[in-house]
Amino acid sequence: MAKRDFYEVLGVAKNASEDEIKKAYRKLAMKYHPDRNPDSKDAEEKFKEVKEAYEMLTNPEKREAYDRYGHAGVDPNMGGGGGFGGGAGGFGDAFGDIFGDIFGGGRGRSQGPQVYRGADLRYNLEITLEQAAHGFDTTIRVPSWDKCDTCHGTGAKPGTSPVTCSTCAGHGQVRMQQGFFSIQQTCPKCHGTGKIIPEPCAACSGQGRIKRNKTLEVKIPVGIDNGMRIRSSGNGEPGTNGGPSGDLYVEIHIKPHQVFQREGDDLHCEMPISFAKAALGGEIEVPTLSGKVAFTIPEGTQSGKTFRLKGKGIKGVRSGFAGDLFCHVAVETPVKLTDKQKDLLRDFEKSTTEGGAKHSPQTKTWRDKVKDFFE
Ligand SMILES: [Zn+2]
Ligand SMILES: [Zn+2]
Repeated sequence: MAKRDFYEVLGVAKNASEDEIKKAYRKLAMKYHPDRNPDSKDAEEKFKEVKEAYEMLTNPEKREAYDRYGHAGVDPNMGGGGGFGGGAGGFGDAFGDIFGDIFGGGRGRSQGPQVYRGADLRYNLEITLEQAAHGFDTTIRVPSWDKCDTCHGTGAKPGTSPVTCSTCAGHGQVRMQQGFFSIQQTCPKCHGTGKIIPEPCAACSGQGRIKRNKTLEVKIPVGIDNGMRIRSSGNGEPGTNGGPSGDLYVEIHIKPHQVFQREGDDLHCEMPISFAKAALGGEIEVPTLSGKVAFTIPEGTQSGKTFRLKGKGIKGVRSGFAGDLFCHVAVETPVKLTDKQKDLLRDFEKSTTEGGAKHSPQTKTWRDKVKDFFE
C-alpha cells in the first residue's frame, strides 16, 4: 500500500505551523483512538498513520528531510518509539493520554542490553450507578516501585557491584549457530540485561527496587459505563534497563441498582401503579437519578405500557447527550381487601360486564383470536 503524504494524513497545509499540526493531530488522534474504536482494525491503522505523520512533522530535522526527499528522506527505522513519558503521568480524560504510546513497543536500540517496557496494570473500581451518572473524583491505592535505598537501584549487595555478563559481553543478546544460520537471541544467562549480580542485595533480592503503595487521584467522568477503562499513563510496572513504565488501567464496574437498569445511556425502571390509577389516569411520581418527577399517565393505561421520559437517562461519556428513561408500567392487583371493598369490586365487575366488551380491549382481542383459532 502506498504511503500517504504526511500533510494529507493530518489535513494541514505544507507550510502549517507546529501549533496547527499539533491541533490537527489531537483532533484525529481523539477520533481514531483505539479506546474509542474498540476492535476496529481500520481505526487502529489510521491512528498509527496519524501518529507517525505527527511525529515526523513535529521533528524539525525529519520534517526538513521529508519536505526535501519525501518518504525516502525519513528513515522508517528511526520513526515511532521515542517520546515515552514514563514517570508520574497524571490521569487524562476517559480516553487516556492520547500522546502516550498505546501500542507497547518500547524497544530501544538494537545494540546493547534489551530494553523492556513495564507491564500494564489493571485496577478494578466498583462504583454506583449514581456515581457513574454524575461523575466524581476519588483516590485509589496502587502499587508503585521505589529505587532500593540499600543498593541504590543496582541490585547488588552494598560493597559489591554488578559485573558485565561474560556470555554476551554485556550486549544482552547472543548469536547462536544453527546449521547455516546464525540466530540472535536474548542472553540466557543475564536475561538480556547484560549484567550479572554476583551477590544480590538482600533488601530487594537483587531487583534494585522495592514495591510500595501510592495514592492516585482518579477523575471519573460523567456517564462512564461498565467495563470502560481509564488510563493512567506511566503508572504501571517499571520497565527493565531504563525502559518505559507500563500503564495503569482503571476498569469501571458498576454495581447493580435497586430501581434502574442501564442500557447504554438509557435507563429502564418498573413502575407499579394501582388498578384504579391505571383506569382513571392522572399524575404519578416517577423516580429519576436526580430525584422524582411528576408524570401524567392517560386514562386506560394498560399493564406493560412503556412511557419514555426524554433526557432523563444518563449523559453519554462520549456523545455528551443524555439518554432517556423508560418507565414500564405494571398494574397492581389489589390484595387484602375488606368485605366492603370486595362488594364494591363485585358491583364494579357487574357494571362493566353489562357494558359489554368495550371496557376490556385486551379480552376482546384475545376472544377474537381464540375464535379464529377454533373456527
Ligand atoms: Zn537493593
Ligand atoms: Zn548476558
